[in-house]
Amino acid sequence: MPTLAVVGAGAKAIAVAAKAAELRAMGVRAPDVVAVEKAGVAANWQAGGGWTDGAHQLGTSPEKDVGFPYRSSVVPRRNAELDERMTRHSWQSFLIATGQFAEWVDRGKPAPTHRRWSQYLRWVADGVGMTVVQGEVERIGIAERSGALGAAERNGALGAAEHSWALGTAETTVYADAVMITGPGQAERSVLPGNPRVMSIAQFWHRALAHERIAAERVAVIGGGETAASMLNELFRHRVSTITVISPSVTLFTRGESFFENTLFSDPTGWTGLTHTERRDALARTDRGVFSARVQDALLADDRIRHLRGRVAHAVARDDRIRLTLSTTQGGECSETVHGFDLVIDGSGADAMWFVPLFTQDALDLLELGLGGPLTAESLQDSIGHDLAVSDVYPKLFLPGLSGLTQGPGFPNLSCLGLLSDRVLGADLSHDLTRRFDEHQSVR
Ligand SMILES: Cc1cc2nc3c(=O)[nH]c(=O)nc-3n(C[C@H](O)[C@H](O)[C@H](O)COP(=O)(O)OP(=O)(O)OC[C@H]3O[C@@H](n4cnc5c(N)ncnc54)[C@H](O)[C@@H]3O)c2cc1C
Repeated sequence: MPTLAVVGAGAKAIAVAAKAAELRAMGVRAPDVVAVEKAGVAANWQAGGGWTDGAHQLGTSPEKDVGFPYRSSVVPRRNAELDERMTRHSWQSFLIATGQFAEWVDRGKPAPTHRRWSQYLRWVADGVGMTVVQGEVERIGIAERSGALGAAERNGALGAAEHSWALGTAETTVYADAVMITGPGQAERSVLPGNPRVMSIAQFWHRALAHERIAAERVAVIGGGETAASMLNELFRHRVSTITVISPSVTLFTRGESFFENTLFSDPTGWTGLTHTERRDALARTDRGVFSARVQDALLADDRIRHLRGRVAHAVARDDRIRLTLSTTQGGECSETVHGFDLVIDGSGADAMWFVPLFTQDALDLLELGLGGPLTAESLQDSIGHDLAVSDVYPKLFLPGLSGLTQGPGFPNLSCLGLLSDRVLGADLSHDLTRRFDEHQSVR
């Protein structure tokens, strides 16, 4: 069986491992899923993972669980059976198994805390016996495959196919026929590391967990979206006079959450039929740097919060203040303004490209060969195919975090984990060189 290694034992790894386990239980071939995890299963949803204190609430409905939307299409004629099996790993099954279902219903189905969500994810991972290798992936390289060369390999027609991925941690190397990258990025990132008036996301949550009260006049939070939303929710309880949210968007938009907008996330049918501009519009409206209606109601009505448009170009510490230079583009003209704050919380650690520095030169060469040009955020995004992998790159590299633009806005987040697992497990991971060689010849 081919091996699919996943960087991070979070929601996506668990969704894929659960479906692979059910497929195997049905007697259907499925790859061995191995998650390489630096902290613990579902660590990013717990206190200590750097992204939350665990006490804040999940933004999306918990019924958008590892099997959602329960419309598998990976085993012809047996998809209903697969969906029925996946319901055993649903949010509601977790509540039933742990004696919490009736109370959750009676309380009006409240959004669970991040901690409760992590307990659910761990329950699924334990239930399917997910393989987890403990260790931080520090480099992603490629390794020569051992054994005799096939005809296509000898021909050199498909150069990359004789390789596998090699994920290096401090202790071990995991070899795999395909890799999927998950997770939001580096919670430790900060514009001015080491300055006590600037906090990374992880430092912020560390202080909140230690019940250290933050007291400051003017606070800036860099970045929008769910990461900033959770931090604003927490900051509210501290002694701060003004909170300025800095993001490149024109204003702080409320996420569109009507049936039609939600449907885009649960069911991306038709997404590929939209133009690039239409897709970017839809993403801006529903996804990037927007706050949910619940957050807008709870937080943004408070007159301590305001919004400043711009990208932080640089930051300096001067006269007991942090001066942020913001650049904005208006009518094609770029301008810079400087603003002073007593405390800056850098929430920009969430970065869909966070993994790129892990690639070795060999791996970068392989990717650029497949991309047909330099590796950039745009070229990677544009190259993501139906299976959520980079097109024309073998061995396969799945990048669901970058698949929103080409495949649908639900794939980078929790909105359609059941569809994500279908797409990934439906991909051809085998090194079936003869078949690929035939396909290659027929294309020529
Ligand atoms: C505070 C917060 C709230 C959010 N709320 C929502 C929400 O309500 N709904 C929604 O759809 N999305 C939400 N998101 C977005 C969220 O990041 C994704 O939806 C979801 O976590 C994606 O799952 P994942 O498997 O990609 O990553 P995660 O579940 O975050 O798992 C990533 C894992 O990778 C591990 N890891 C990271 N780097 C390495 C490495 N180098 N080596 C080994 N392991 C590594 C981490 O320890 C972690 O366990 C939220 C994000 C944040 C930060």
